[in-house]
Amino acid sequence: MSVSTSNTQDTIVALATSPGSQGAIAVIRVSGTDAISLVNSVFKGKDLNKQASHTIHFGTIREGEEIIDEVLVSLFVGPNSYTKENSVEISTHNSKYIIERVINLLIRKGARAARPGEFTLRAFLNGGLDLSQAEAVADLIASNSAASHQIAMQQMRGGFSNQLKKLREDLVHFASLIELELDFSEEDVEFANRDQLKALIQKIYSVINKLIASFEQGNVLKNGVPVVIAGKPNVGKSTLLNALLNEERAIVSDIAGTTRDTIEDEINIKGITFRFIDTAGIRHTEDVIEAKGVERTREKMKQARLIIYLFDPTQDKIEAVQEQIQEVKDLNIPFVTIINKSDLITESQRAEYQVLNPLYISAKEQLGIEELKDELLNQVNLSNINTDDVMVTNIRHVEALQHTQTALEKVLYGIDNPVTSDFLAMDIRQALHHLGEITGTVTTDDLLDNIFSKFCIGK
Ligand code: GDP
Repeated sequence: MSVSTSNTQDTIVALATSPGSQGAIAVIRVSGTDAISLVNSVFKGKDLNKQASHTIHFGTIREGEEIIDEVLVSLFVGPNSYTKENSVEISTHNSKYIIERVINLLIRKGARAARPGEFTLRAFLNGGLDLSQAEAVADLIASNSAASHQIAMQQMRGGFSNQLKKLREDLVHFASLIELELDFSEEDVEFANRDQLKALIQKIYSVINKLIASFEQGNVLKNGVPVVIAGKPNVGKSTLLNALLNEERAIVSDIAGTTRDTIEDEINIKGITFRFIDTAGIRHTEDVIEAKGVERTREKMKQARLIIYLFDPTQDKIEAVQEQIQEVKDLNIPFVTIINKSDLITESQRAEYQVLNPLYISAKEQLGIEELKDELLNQVNLSNINTDDVMVTNIRHVEALQHTQTALEKVLYGIDNPVTSDFLAMDIRQALHHLGEITGTVTTDDLLDNIFSKFCIGK
């Protein structure tokens, strides 16, 4: 059964904390009409049915006379909960055995194991969150940098949806006026002032334009800036990558229990993530710029938002360097010219290279790395991004915005040309439909399935 069509009358249960984690405490989440009475039936302590919302109670979870664990139970009486239903969070000791027994016990008492994202789905279905806010919950949990965190938080708090809601309301108003005209079509009346409508459509159009434009930057902030380190074999690409990553690794490993598995080729500079593309290739010192590799390299470089081009003064002549730089310039992607191995450079070489205005580093001796980082930030020009601004980071939203825009163009055409009101109304409805897809005013089961099935169980 799909998530969206699952029975919302059931009381659902799932582990809300990370399964298999090492922490001291695990939290089991229960939500649904019967959540409180169901937990109460296995809880020994105060009568949970008689306690106020937003209170915490100590007691034991028992199966018959056997104590499974000593727990703390947090009560949320609907609609004052995340899901808007009665909800209970049981904090147990973090033992796989205890967690399984408690969940199984609750299932035997009548709860059902929650599907992925089902708590958040209920929050959405019960009006606690709109769709873009629900999606932001997933983003928030996945966020791994100050920037991605801030964007997700902003979206979850409704910044994005609020802006769209207001526009949608204005448009609904006009749609109904025009539809009213249809009822009087014999009489040739105009309830909807065409100039005002046009001004509104233009305003919406420009807001949507801005939102679509924010996607590129939003996406970069959310997923990281894709970077390619290019240069001939042996110029020091892998040494540089390691220098950048190692420093990071050292910082991260100071925090006990953190692993770097998922951020292997990423570094974080002042809250912005830089993601190195296909660095495995660099590691194997694969030749990335020799003739046969040129096409592949170009393809790779095109995915980058930033290229770090490394030169080695002990092997690269200035003419060859200039030639390569011209090639990168043709790609129209920001790039940083780096002369590596500055520990080996002679004064005359330095003078010769000066026309390129390069950054001198020594990847091996870790010289100039901080300046390089500053330059990376500088190049992606993110300093002018205000993460307080509403920003679109979700491809689904961008697509809906683009569809809205197409519909709005038709409306504008319809206002300026002799188009009958019913066509105008249809185009406005189309625009409303696509705007509604973002916040979930308009949904289909497929859409909901697609979104919520990507959540983890317990979310
Ligand atoms: P790649 O093929 O571009 O990845 O180059 P490597 O990172 O494998 O480096 C090639 C050689 O250059 C290795 O022997 C490195 O130790 C050396 N190397 C890299 N960076 C520097 C540097 O800044 N100074 C010096 N002296 N040697 C370097």
